[in-house]
Amino acid sequence: MNKISLFLSRRLFLMTLFTSFFSLFSRPFTSIAAYQTGNNQWSLSKDEWRKRLSKEAYAVLIEESTERPLSSSLNDEKRNGFFHCAGCDQPLFSSETKYESGTGWPSFWQSLPNSIETKVDFKLIVPRTEYHCSRCGGHQGHVFDDGPRPTGKRYCNNGVALSFRPTV
Ligand SMILES: [Zn+2]
Repeated sequence: MNKISLFLSRRLFLMTLFTSFFSLFSRPFTSIAAYQTGNNQWSLSKDEWRKRLSKEAYAVLIEESTERPLSSSLNDEKRNGFFHCAGCDQPLFSSETKYESGTGWPSFWQSLPNSIETKVDFKLIVPRTEYHCSRCGGHQGHVFDDGPRPTGKRYCNNGVALSFRPTV
């Protein structure tokens, strides 16, 4: 084998190693679908979810997409009450922790205890912390560290993934 072909085969080897490394490690991030949950009652197939949800809610809760900013009527929701998961109706946020973040998405500085779980996603290359409903696994939004006191957190939630229940 001459020098050039040795160089090329080494290059090919490294490239193969590189791509298989990435396919190995990038797969979990794309295949951890929001609909996967430890709760058997809510381990629904994508078709079952499609039947339960509006097209817009399905895109966010199951496909982890993001609604357009300022598109949700819940941005201006100021009444007292609770914001429930649009997938399974579990309460996620109290109106007492809602605030105007100026982002165009309903924002909260704290979630209700044990109502959400987080994972890191790399969709925008820079890692972001995604959170989802702890019961059905539906994707809700992302949490950032630029929120107000007392927690300093900003739960940036898709309005279409929530339903609001006013307290009377
Ligand atoms: Zn849920």
